[in-house]
Amino acid sequence: MKWVCKICGYEHEGDAPPDECPLCAAGPEEFEPVDDAPAAAAPAPRADAPAEAVRAVLRCALCERELGDATCVCPNCASRAASLSLPPSFTPHTSAKGRRYVVVGGGVAGFTAAERIRAADPDGSIVLVTSERCAPYYRLSLTRYIGGEIDAAELFVHPQGWWSDRRIELAIGTEVLDVRRSEHELITSAGKLPYDRLVAATGARSFVPPLGNLAVRNALPLRTIHDAREILSLARPGTRAVVVGGGVLGLETAFGLARRGCEITVCEGSTHLLSRQLDPASAAIFQRHLEQKGIGFALGTLPASLVGDEAVRGVKLADESVIDAELVVLSAGVRPNNLVWQRAGLTVSKGLVVDDAMRTSDPDIFAAGDGAEHKGVLYGIWPASLEMGKVAGDNAAGGASVFSGFPMSYGLKVVDLDLFSIGLTRANEPGTSELVLRVSPPAYAKLVLRDGVIAGAILLGDTSMSGRIREAVLARRSVGAMIEAGKSADEIFAAIA
Ligand SMILES: Cc1cc2nc3c(=O)[nH]c(=O)nc-3n(C[C@H](O)[C@H](O)[C@H](O)COP(=O)(O)OP(=O)(O)OC[C@H]3O[C@@H](n4cnc5c(N)ncnc54)[C@H](O)[C@@H]3O)c2cc1C
Repeated sequence: MKWVCKICGYEHEGDAPPDECPLCAAGPEEFEPVDDAPAAAAPAPRADAPAEAVRAVLRCALCERELGDATCVCPNCASRAASLSLPPSFTPHTSAKGRRYVVVGGGVAGFTAAERIRAADPDGSIVLVTSERCAPYYRLSLTRYIGGEIDAAELFVHPQGWWSDRRIELAIGTEVLDVRRSEHELITSAGKLPYDRLVAATGARSFVPPLGNLAVRNALPLRTIHDAREILSLARPGTRAVVVGGGVLGLETAFGLARRGCEITVCEGSTHLLSRQLDPASAAIFQRHLEQKGIGFALGTLPASLVGDEAVRGVKLADESVIDAELVVLSAGVRPNNLVWQRAGLTVSKGLVVDDAMRTSDPDIFAAGDGAEHKGVLYGIWPASLEMGKVAGDNAAGGASVFSGFPMSYGLKVVDLDLFSIGLTRANEPGTSELVLRVSPPAYAKLVLRDGVIAGAILLGDTSMSGRIREAVLARRSVGAMIEAGKSADEIFAAIA
């Protein structure tokens, strides 16, 4: 009998499901029996693959020398501990007719690029390589998963079979270790992988702040489904939890944990929340709203170290006070995963540098997502990664799409309070001014103008105007004439709507 993990697609044969999914650690309740299981998500060797290709062998990830065991350092090049290479060469089961595309990264930029490539090129082979041990999922929904608003199965972007139906091979649990550009070849933890066109969509990882005593258990970042499951395993009603970082992700995590009944304190170095998205007035309204939901705050103070011997017992702040905690979530920003591209000699500045076509300094390598830097900007937001993934995928397949930038915007929903923020949020530069709508808290609405042009906004409570405002910011709509005509903020807002 076959069982399929609803979370990641792992197939198990036996009379009962396994106690734990070896891929994503899901429990037996996440397995369902299947009569005719779809193709396994991991790359399957072709039936006609040469015998050598399926022989289990350990090789050095860099020089490919065959090694004795998985832990030894290569005696040949000594540059890296050996990495598992099973099998030694990739054997994509898609037809090799046409171009060979490889997309590295199973996040939104990567899976969107793969989808666009398939739409543009029905013949090429596509391998989507991801170091995560599951199929692509909605990373931005992890906080809703933590809060119990959706279950794990709903996180996944496509149902089983969708990928294989479109001949997009998922190489899950596979890490790209090196790029040999002159040979058009990747060295991965599962062997060599040739490409004609490559999309680098390796995204970002959580930044772990340099706190003392970080090695204690139960202090975790939140970036992957694996992190979310670990956090959930510790989050029980009454668990004292501290979220380090009062940005969007930190607050969403805090709210999710509060919904699970945890006692939450958010610790933030700035004196007000969401300092990139809100001004002090709207941040104060937002904070009061969250406090009413049971979330406590320690603002304007930086954590210095974690307290505890084996497991965390608290967070010590710079003023030596300690907040008790059995769970600490570290939410202090992200850093792009670009080491592998940098080592390959591609131009990397803050991120992997791309032009308007999402092309890197190598004409056969495109990039998209949190790791890609376009015109000096690293976006770090889902919709920008999605858009970049479309352009990178189109162009990798020979198209002529253009990425013309993206206004920084954030949407956040905390129960009954929606928040939208875009572009400039404060009139603190020459030529800027503000129009604040007269609404009663917790609602708040403000436009920020630069030389009479709408350059940003904050909406709290009622965000129904967010689409129009986004369009106005993108179109650089001017309301200078209305201001000169003496129109009020309410009239100008109404005109935009
Ligand atoms: C919990 C959470 C909530 C969020 N909420 C929001 C939100 O509400 N709104 C919003 O706009 N944004 C949100 N974000 C940010 C948003 O999710 C990211 O901007 C987006 O996921 C970036 O997508 P990406 O494809 O560039 O990279 P990622 O999603 O980071 O994916 C990168 C992929 O590359 C893989 N990878 C990395 N290195 C290698 C390698 N060497 N070999 C193989 N694979 C590799 C990784 O395993 C991963 O699968 C949130 C993020 C988190 C973590």
